[in-house]
Amino acid sequence: LKNFPYTNILVLGLAKSGTAAARLLLENGRKVRVNDKQADENAQSVKDLKQLGAEVITGSHPLSVLEGVEVIVKNPGIPYDIPLLVEAENRDIPIITEIEIAGNLVETSIIGITGSNGKTTTTTLTTEMLAKSNQQVRVAGNIGYVATEVANELKSDEKMVLELSSFQLMGVKAFKPKVAVLLNIYEAHLDYHKTFENYREAKCNIFRNQSEEDFLIYNADNSTVVESIEQAKASKIPFSLKQKYENGAWADEKGVYFQGEKVIDRQDIVLVGDHNLENILAAVCAAKLSGATNEGIQEVLTTFSAVKHRMQFVENIQGRFFYNDSKATNTLATQKALSSFRQPTVLLAGGLDRGNDFDDLIPYLENVKGMVLFGETSEKLRSTAEKAGIDIIRSADTMEDAVRNAYEISEPDNVILLSPACASWDQYRTFEERGDMFIQAVHTLK
Ligand code: ADP
Repeated sequence: LKNFPYTNILVLGLAKSGTAAARLLLENGRKVRVNDKQADENAQSVKDLKQLGAEVITGSHPLSVLEGVEVIVKNPGIPYDIPLLVEAENRDIPIITEIEIAGNLVETSIIGITGSNGKTTTTTLTTEMLAKSNQQVRVAGNIGYVATEVANELKSDEKMVLELSSFQLMGVKAFKPKVAVLLNIYEAHLDYHKTFENYREAKCNIFRNQSEEDFLIYNADNSTVVESIEQAKASKIPFSLKQKYENGAWADEKGVYFQGEKVIDRQDIVLVGDHNLENILAAVCAAKLSGATNEGIQEVLTTFSAVKHRMQFVENIQGRFFYNDSKATNTLATQKALSSFRQPTVLLAGGLDRGNDFDDLIPYLENVKGMVLFGETSEKLRSTAEKAGIDIIRSADTMEDAVRNAYEISEPDNVILLSPACASWDQYRTFEERGDMFIQAVHTLK
């Protein structure tokens, strides 16, 4: 931890990433206090941290935990408006996330990927493309592997592909990836970031500390992205579905190209949807700039059909094509999912109510013949469906019920698509659980 000038550190939130960060800081001789509202004093991870010398405070966030603290390592899920963090800001105590520590451990080999949508897909594609090109590569971050842990184990010839959420990026001070990818910026998570400007600023942290020798790969078709990167110092590499950029990546009906060279024929690509083509272009840029070969990239794109829960083809039952897009937790993602199909579609949607309406979906509902709705937002979605003139609208209490209803109103050659346009937390623990219930319900149907 060369450039980490703090001795007394408060780790706030003891989930996987907090525990890993605390452990690493202790092992590097720092004094660590840990504060978590819910953690169980007797959990093994808590006992282990105490053993290593941490002071652990659970049950609440008393202001006294700030005494003597020079920096706070905050779990990305904890909102900035809790009294403890408001007070920390009053006292000018810097608040970072675990990403900052990971970045400190590995200075030169990070490929960081962010955006409102497409992060996990692009991260997975980039990692696979490098791996198939015989590069040593590890994946971490928002995708599910703790960044500090992976960074700590990283060998000198290994690269790390890091999926970064806006929550993680908000706590960035000095972190800088060698290669940054900014996929798109849409309105999202405004409940947490309060304003669009804050959200955009957080996303821009991915390139803020980059210098001339680094690369910034960006979506030249997204006007918010283009405006946001004006000040970036890194070498800018655009990708586009609309224009040919000689220094970046683009696609036409025949192929995908990078810096003037064809990388793969369009017909050989298995992934469906224009949004995935954007993800592919971004991944091709990131992989090529990090040493991937066209053969390695081709091997991935000719076989890779989906990341689980993202437009994942589940099964064909009596001519109905079931797709699981449980990860579509906002209307934009559901718009993209709907645009990927020409066949008549039955849409399963609904979930946590974040206060928005769903009328943005109306132009995309042309091929939708029926909707099955569930969760807190079912009434709002019903109103959208009615405005769109959809004939068959049903409600369901359970996923099994929803899938059965969808099947009843479908015919052979239809798509049955779970793309909820909402987060899952009103009925499920995670979007993964929701998607797994869908897959299970589809199998039961058989
Ligand atoms: P993230 O990790 O950013 O949430 P994922 O790769 O998991 O993104 O994809 C989530 C959903 O977002 C997908 O199921 C799809 O509907 C939509 N999506 C994926 N890529 C894009 C993109 N480039 N632009 C817009 N929407 C996308």
